[in-house]
Amino acid sequence: MDFELDKHHQEFQEKFRAIADTAVAKNARRHDENASVPVEMMETLHKAGLMEICVPKDFGGHGSSFVTGHDPLSFIIGIEEIARVDMGAAHCFQVHGHSCMLLEHACNDDQKKRYFGPVVDKGTPISWTGSEFGRTARGQYNLQSDAIKKDGGFLLNGVKNYGTNASVADWNIVALSSDQGEMPENFLLVMIPAGAEGFEVDASWWDPTGMRSAVSPKLTLKDVFVSDEDILVGPGYYPREQLGSRWHLGFGASHLGAAQGMFDFILEYLPKRGTTGDPHSQRAIGEMKMRLTAARDILYHAGLLWSGDDLAKAEEYSLMAKLYCIMTAEWMISETIRVVGSSALLKTYDLERPVRDIHIHSTHANLYSTAQLIGRSALGMEFDSTQQQIAVETKKANA
Ligand SMILES: Cc1cc2nc3c(=O)[nH]c(=O)nc-3n(C[C@H](O)[C@H](O)[C@H](O)COP(=O)(O)OP(=O)(O)OC[C@H]3O[C@@H](n4cnc5c(N)ncnc54)[C@H](O)[C@@H]3O)c2cc1C
Repeated sequence: MDFELDKHHQEFQEKFRAIADTAVAKNARRHDENASVPVEMMETLHKAGLMEICVPKDFGGHGSSFVTGHDPLSFIIGIEEIARVDMGAAHCFQVHGHSCMLLEHACNDDQKKRYFGPVVDKGTPISWTGSEFGRTARGQYNLQSDAIKKDGGFLLNGVKNYGTNASVADWNIVALSSDQGEMPENFLLVMIPAGAEGFEVDASWWDPTGMRSAVSPKLTLKDVFVSDEDILVGPGYYPREQLGSRWHLGFGASHLGAAQGMFDFILEYLPKRGTTGDPHSQRAIGEMKMRLTAARDILYHAGLLWSGDDLAKAEEYSLMAKLYCIMTAEWMISETIRVVGSSALLKTYDLERPVRDIHIHSTHANLYSTAQLIGRSALGMEFDSTQQQIAVETKKANA
């Protein structure tokens, strides 16, 4: 196994880095202040053909995917490079990419044409909202938003939250509990177009302390009708296919990118302050480099495993990679503050933004449940890497 990036991936890295250092960097502070969507990034990525990186080749993209196993590394590198500058912007790109991977797997050709069309023509992102108030305790497949079967489609009602990209998307993937069968077989994914009757996207809901550019609105569905042609396969498809296992690495890549951004800041800042001579700082910087390198190696390794046949190994490595990248990013916050000192946290610099972003974003998945699943795997017990909620996992363990 070769741990150096080949020419193809180096080229992707250079392209993403150039956009991160220009279109993303120039607007990051404004989007953080206003909690607004990084549209310039999306436009610039689109011009370079990179908003299409996870659109299948036959439909005008590159086809990078954790689901098909085609070149997952290019997408990981893209998230990492953007997150180095703006973790919120990277999350918009990540949700969009994961949505494209899901649609490639779930859709027939007619659906692919309709859903990928706006991405390829205009670079608009796709949103994907599973989350809703109180879902964590109920379990991810136990949703209160419902889909009732009607002639030719489903009638939808409910309230969802954290719909990243939904305020600018042409198409939105939304998860609901249908009246077709018991949980999880009734779990349904549908596509709702922007502006559909009864579909309200409230971006003013999004006023967090970090990740402010990852605008993630509240969605209200009041008697929204979706026809059968906008159903993704049918009830039970998503849990049956265990596709939740494919999204761990995106989170790993964004935490690694943000941590690398903090490290880059330190290397530039310390010489200017004249504090590189401090042995404690030298020790901390050495340890940072070691952890960042280890995190990147496990992340890329896990990414490459999705191109192989051993999916259980890919799942276990992906859990470990996500957890290790998040732990590295959280550890970087406290170590960085000690090394740079308080002036670096003035708003003059951008360092305080990744500190806030990492705090918010690392709550996305429960770290302890991730570690618990790795523990089950090590103990030779059955583990399901699509489960992030303790309640569901406990039920399974007791079964
Ligand atoms: C920046 C950002 C972007 C996001 N984007 C999206 C998106 O695009 N699409 C989407 O679907 N979701 C998205 N999410 C939402 C995410 O998937 C979670 O649904 C959300 O973070 C849950 O937050 P909460 O405050 O409701 O947590 P709660 O449900 O209140 O849970 C809080 C904590 O309770 C603990 N806990 C876990 N299990 C249990 C249990 N069984 N009983 C009691 N306590 C438990 C855990 O420690 C957990 O962290 C996003 C989140 C963030 C932060």
